[in-house]
Amino acid sequence: MSEGKVVLVGAGPGAPDLITLRGVEALRHADVVLYDRLTHPALLEHAPIDAERIYCGRAPGAPGDDRQESIHDLMVRHARAGRVVVRLKGGDPFVFGRGGEELQALIAQGIEVEVIPGITAGISVPAALGIPVTHRGLARGVTFVSGHGGETDWSALARSGTTLVIYMGLRNLERIVSALKSAGMSPQTPACVIENGTLRSQRQVLATLGTLSAAGFEGPAIIVVGEVVRLARIALQEKKAA
Ligand code: SAH
Repeated sequence: MSEGKVVLVGAGPGAPDLITLRGVEALRHADVVLYDRLTHPALLEHAPIDAERIYCGRAPGAPGDDRQESIHDLMVRHARAGRVVVRLKGGDPFVFGRGGEELQALIAQGIEVEVIPGITAGISVPAALGIPVTHRGLARGVTFVSGHGGETDWSALARSGTTLVIYMGLRNLERIVSALKSAGMSPQTPACVIENGTLRSQRQVLATLGTLSAAGFEGPAIIVVGEVVRLARIALQEKKAA
């Protein structure tokens, strides 16, 4: 029996047509699809009708390590049985997605792995509002950072001159904002929160560091802090005028 393989596929940020052609092609050849909470259900329609579909999501903040190991085991088991396993992950598999851990675990077991990148939320969700995250003259670069616990040095980031794109930060929004302010960042700095970006349910709050709040937001959300957020307003005003 021939050895199977695992394909780690980035599903894009939300809208089901923001996956790559290569990602769709991989889905078309899948025997098994393991998908996450943040992958659009319509993407599963690309897989053959008889492909096995396995949900591997977990609620944010839920304990994940056992779960992660059982996902590794599942992939290894199916690949060893000669199947093509597509591991479909939200955004890009290697940006805050544990794709790196999955890759290492598979390599350690001698399983063939292919990686197909995806469009990460940190670029595409701001872009949905017309925010160019590295706009020349406004940002020296962009920093992707996790807002989920951890030992982030917010004062170093506050001084970096880069746009801050914060993933998984909704629950810690107040703490992040106050850390940036105490690090000397001006309360006038433009900032926004975008929930369910690129989906029909997208919502956003455009504000400043001093006024930012995201009451009522629950979905996945990206926080953007930096002068580039000003450019979103232009895009929104044009939309309103149209
Ligand atoms: N690998 C993914 C990120 C996974 S971490 C990627 O590259 O995009 C999950 C976090 O991504 C969420 O907490 C949120 O901060 C962000 N996110 C994912 N999809 C999103 C969307 N449609 N809108 C806003 N934020 C999103």
